[in-house]
Amino acid sequence: MKTTVAIRRQFASDNNAGICPEAWDALAKANRGHARGYGDDVWTERASDLIRELFETDCEVFFVFNGTAANSLALASLCQSYHSILCHEIAHVETDECGAPEFFSNGTKVLLLAGQNGRLDPPAIERMVKRRTDIHFPKPRVVSVTQATEVGTVYSVKELKAIGEMAEKLGLKVHMDGARFANAVAAFKAHPSEMTWKAGIDVLCFGGTKNGTHVGDAVVFFNRELAYEFDYRCKQAGQLASKMRFLAAPWVGMLQNGAWLRHASHANKMAELLFTKLKNLSGIKILFPREANAVFAELPEKVITGLRDRGWMFYTFIGRGGCRFMCSWDTTEKDVKDFAADLTALLSTNRNRP
Ligand SMILES: *Cc1c(COP(=O)(O)O)cnc(C)c1O
Repeated sequence: MKTTVAIRRQFASDNNAGICPEAWDALAKANRGHARGYGDDVWTERASDLIRELFETDCEVFFVFNGTAANSLALASLCQSYHSILCHEIAHVETDECGAPEFFSNGTKVLLLAGQNGRLDPPAIERMVKRRTDIHFPKPRVVSVTQATEVGTVYSVKELKAIGEMAEKLGLKVHMDGARFANAVAAFKAHPSEMTWKAGIDVLCFGGTKNGTHVGDAVVFFNRELAYEFDYRCKQAGQLASKMRFLAAPWVGMLQNGAWLRHASHANKMAELLFTKLKNLSGIKILFPREANAVFAELPEKVITGLRDRGWMFYTFIGRGGCRFMCSWDTTEKDVKDFAADLTALLSTNRNRP
């Protein structure tokens, strides 16, 4: 295996990108000398404090290895096994976590809601909760929102507040899957507190990996009571890192000088550039509004094959012809231009074919 040859930058996923310099530098610093294990170290303390400063509140912070663990353990801590979780039908917790939320909560049922552009709306939440209120159906307990959504859209502060108010009215807790929370904050230039606890979010799974760290997402409990014994839950699930400082240090690197927001803004900007290049091409259809760091478009099958033949990687998991183009902290204008040039050429060949 040739381990020295790097593949070129791609549009498949933001987790295809490497580690950003700020996270890398912090890791190197954390690697000097010894530190105590299991989170009893200065990096974990500093990273947690920076998260509290960022959100301007005294939240409880835990670092776990990845987003699936963050989401499923956070949801499990909000639920009993006889409860249910409401989420969008294409939510990551439903479609991409292999049943981990149900597993870690010992069988909590996930109830699916439809909603335009990947977003939930309060009336749909209310309808689902009121549909069954008898003892024979699992009791709705949590609503889970993904910010930014799986189709690259973003909930506004107003929309989140409306969901938070509906949840309060119905006695539900609110969980936010923030694998791309940074991109959402960058998209609306909203304050992180406005997008979370001030809108009624009880717990946020704050993603770092897709925004430039190597591993390690943060579970942020704004409602501290819900964090009760969460440390035991993490340990039991194999999510208590022995060398915790290497999960925490990248967060220090990302948060101390605003790199987290710079990288997310950059990724969003590259997606906007890609969107402006794609939107007027004939033969393709943009599928969702471009709000965060992705563009979704429907392309002819032959063009998809042609792009793949030219070495481009991207996902086509949203039905026939539906492609996802995801930008990262390190996507360059040249990457976007090269890709758009290949796409333009392939579309014109495809049109001129008899
Ligand atoms: C990537 C992602 C996650 C986390 O996935 P892991 O692979 O477990 O880190 C969670 N939610 C969404 C919406 C994601 O895109």
